[in-house]
Amino acid sequence: MHASNCRGDFGLVIKTGDEYIESLRERKIKVYLFGEKVKNPVDHPIIRPSINSVAVTYDVANDPKYEELATVTSNLTGEKVNRFTHIHQNTYDLVKKVKLLRLLGQKTGVCFQRCVGMDSLNALSCVTFELDQKFGTEYYKRFTEYVKHVQGNDLVCCGAMTDPKGDRSLRPSQQADPDLYLRIVEQGDNGIVVRGSKVHQTGAVNSHEVIVMPTRTMREEDKDYAVSFAIPADTEGLIYIYGRQSCDLRKLEDSEIDLGNVRYSGQEAMIVLDDVFVPWERVFMAGEHEFTWPLVNTFSAYHRQSYGGCKAGVGDVLIGAAATIAEYNGVAKASHIRDKIIEMNHLNETIYSCGIACSAEGHQTPSGTYLVDILLSNICKLNVTRFPYEIARLAEDIAGGLLVTLPSEKDFKNPETRKHLDRYLKGVRTVPTKHRLRMLRLIENIIMGLGAVGYRVESMHGAGSPQAQRIMIEREEDIEFKKNLAKSIAGIKRNE
Ligand code: SF4
Ligand code: FE
Repeated sequence: MHASNCRGDFGLVIKTGDEYIESLRERKIKVYLFGEKVKNPVDHPIIRPSINSVAVTYDVANDPKYEELATVTSNLTGEKVNRFTHIHQNTYDLVKKVKLLRLLGQKTGVCFQRCVGMDSLNALSCVTFELDQKFGTEYYKRFTEYVKHVQGNDLVCCGAMTDPKGDRSLRPSQQADPDLYLRIVEQGDNGIVVRGSKVHQTGAVNSHEVIVMPTRTMREEDKDYAVSFAIPADTEGLIYIYGRQSCDLRKLEDSEIDLGNVRYSGQEAMIVLDDVFVPWERVFMAGEHEFTWPLVNTFSAYHRQSYGGCKAGVGDVLIGAAATIAEYNGVAKASHIRDKIIEMNHLNETIYSCGIACSAEGHQTPSGTYLVDILLSNICKLNVTRFPYEIARLAEDIAGGLLVTLPSEKDFKNPETRKHLDRYLKGVRTVPTKHRLRMLRLIENIIMGLGAVGYRVESMHGAGSPQAQRIMIEREEDIEFKKNLAKSIAGIKRNE
């Protein structure tokens, strides 16, 4: 499966977007959507736009303009690889990652799905090393072989962390149904058998590999749930149930204007693992519950950094759309509109600044892999739980109510209604009505339609809900240090 591609000067393994799309056809993946098994996910009109988004992560790696950002020399093989498969070797790698994600957000206007796998690879690189140091296991070696496989074949990995969780007040082993957190049900000489589910899985159906990690800190009594491994996406026993998104049926309408984003979308799916066998060479944690917290924490730190890039990129598209619709409406010069655009940029660049800051302040872990500054990456993500909402609110304000009262594209195509729409929905004289409709639909797409999964609710809950970031900020804020600063400056002495 997934034969590597040798190409030109690089002598390498970097695939093109088209090659990526073709490689997906080789999988025998079991996907359900709208109550039916999907025979051909690659060409399904609802799924394909999400595949197009991932394909851009390949196309930028083949574009000389982005070579430095999108490709990098692997520390493991010495070959040039796609940055999405790379293990960060310095803070420049971390910074470039954020810049790459912003670029891709700008190019697609949606979630392009490939970052979760990259963040899983880097988190496992840090944690399997430390796990081996403590227990004398050989997970890091196995894991490193796995990374070489991913790099050598330029694969998309789905990072699968979130369990269904059942009753949130109960620990995994206390649940009425023991499979509400994914667990090991059998261990043998050749490997393990796992059962459970992973929910909200970004890009799962578009992946070659699934990397499973625990969703929370586990204790001794939960050690069967302390499990991490990687399997091909079409492994026997894996089932994908496609998540629907707001306005998804528009993709079946043979429309273009009403889509808003004419080519791309995000993707979320639920994965069921129904007694899946995983050979030992693909297992990276099996019962070492002491390392569940480091793994969750490290992955979250990387993924909260990611949002400093992708959300800023999609924010750029939304700001551009708001400024354009203001022009089409003839209000671009109004001072309150300009002020709102400034505010949107202020918020958007603050998100990006946090992504860059936590990267620039990154550090080397014992494995040699570079990790972001954990406090700053949590600050980044907590800002992301708020700022896109405010940016979206301002975009709605600028766009006007037509955003949600616009007739359909079909009415625009019907000559009887078109003449009225053309005439009465026109803004400034020089701009065709159709352009105005397209821009309104794009704004709708990003803030409440197909793109919203990547920009709004995903900003809230992706990479952990806001409370998870608050907990981390409290852990990392070093309040005693700050209290001592205040006491010292106020002249308060210890034994006075
Ligand atoms: Fe990447 Fe952003 Fe999508 Fe997460 S939400 S996978 S960071 S594009
Ligand atoms: Fe996410």
